[in-house]
Formats: sequence, structure tokens, C-alpha cells
Amino acid sequence: MKYQVYAIQYATRAARSSENFFGHHDIHEDNPMPLSYYIWVAVSNEHVVVIDVGFTREVGERRNRNYFRCPIDTLKCLDIDPNEVPYVVITHMHYDHVGNAHKFPNARFFVQESEMGFWTGKYASKPFFRGLVEEEDVVHLVRENFRGRLHFVDGVEEILPGITVYRTGGHSAGLQVVKVTTEQGSVILASDATHFYRNIDENRPFSIVHNLAEMYQAFEVVRSLQDESSVMIPGHDPLVMEQFPVARPGLEGIAVKIG
Ligand SMILES: [Zn+2]
Repeated sequence: MKYQVYAIQYATRAARSSENFFGHHDIHEDNPMPLSYYIWVAVSNEHVVVIDVGFTREVGERRNRNYFRCPIDTLKCLDIDPNEVPYVVITHMHYDHVGNAHKFPNARFFVQESEMGFWTGKYASKPFFRGLVEEEDVVHLVRENFRGRLHFVDGVEEILPGITVYRTGGHSAGLQVVKVTTEQGSVILASDATHFYRNIDENRPFSIVHNLAEMYQAFEVVRSLQDESSVMIPGHDPLVMEQFPVARPGLEGIAVKIG
């Protein structure tokens, strides 16, 4: 099964390079290094798979993010009706990846067991972790679980022909990356296994850490999934919008076609 893959940018945040690398005190560099916020979507003749769903305008404003437009509205510009999307992969449950899950009333959500376990477990309320999620987002997925609409993955699983998820952990307890087969090769949606190209290229993890050793291991996992024909997409790098063609006329700065 071959897919087309799109990245949809819906918000940005100003930041400095010193904020984007763990252990930055040792690094004599502090330049503007903004983040972009994305969701991704894989489309074939038979399937539509949305990968992460982004946050709402309300949450973006409360957290002082520069919000362009709801990424779920942008899906409609790509002829995708969120009411009919059957599959949503949640790479992890941080607020910027899972806040619009309620806009997919008929989807099945693919999440790692260790991710769901962490956010319903004893450390989720600790201040550092607590700030990374929205309580309502976690509760929503708990409800979806009771409706039988969560598909738990433990490690690696081909969830559909041509789409495989791999748990890396590191940045969150059960972060997973997604490999999608396209006509040109494969697209590795690394999500927050590497926020920027620079994190993996320079082997310097991002500053928000669940397990530092696993963050280094996540770089190895992402590298191991690549070959000459594959494309690796980091989770928050503005360069993605510059390196790929616009998905449709009128979506400049909003959506690009990756593969
Ligand atoms: Zn993120």
C-alpha cells in the first residue's frame, strides 16, 4: 500500500537555541530558533491516517503560541472529512499532539501502552510532567478507551499495510515514530524523537526529557529506519515548510506534500 504524506503547520513559537538542546549550559550559542507545530496525514486509495492532531486555538492562546488556523480545518482543504477519518496515530500525549482528538468522532486511536499508562499513572501529576499535557486531553482518551476506540501498541506494530509504528520513548514515556511507505520510498515521521534536524544531526537531545538515554536511543532507531530513498521529518522544524512543495495552491505556509 502506497501513501501520499502531508505536513500541516498550524502554529509557531519563538524560541532560542539555548532552549532547544538539553544541557545547553555547555553550549556557547544562543540564537533565535523558533518551533513550528505540525500534524501529518497519510492518504492512499483506501485509507486516511492522521498522525497527531495538534492543539486548539484556546489552548494555543493560553500558552501564548502563535496560532494560524485549526489543523483539522486544513484537513478539509485536502478533501479529508475529520468525521470520516478511521485511523489516528498519537505519537505521544503532550498537549501539542493530542488536543483535537475530540474532532475525530469515528476514529480508532493508536497509542503506545506505555504512554497511556504513564499519563494515567502515579507520576503524571508531578509539576514537570503535569505542564506537558492538558488534563482534558488525557481524560478524553480515557473515555475513548472505555468506548473501545483505543488500539494499544506495545513496541513495534504494522498498524496497516504500509504504516508501521515504533516505540522509542525518551522525550515521553511511550513516544512512537511512524514509517509510511510512499511511491518514492519511505517517510519517517520522527515526531519528537527529534524536534529539529539539528537534534539528530548533532546528536543533541531536545530540552524536554523523560528518559535521556532513550532520547539518544531514539536517534539510533530513527537512523536505523532510513535508507537512501527515505525522507525523515522532524517534529517541530520550520525547515520542513521550506523543503517541500506546497500541498495545494492557497495553502502556502500551511501544508506541504512530503512524499
Ligand atoms: Zn511536540
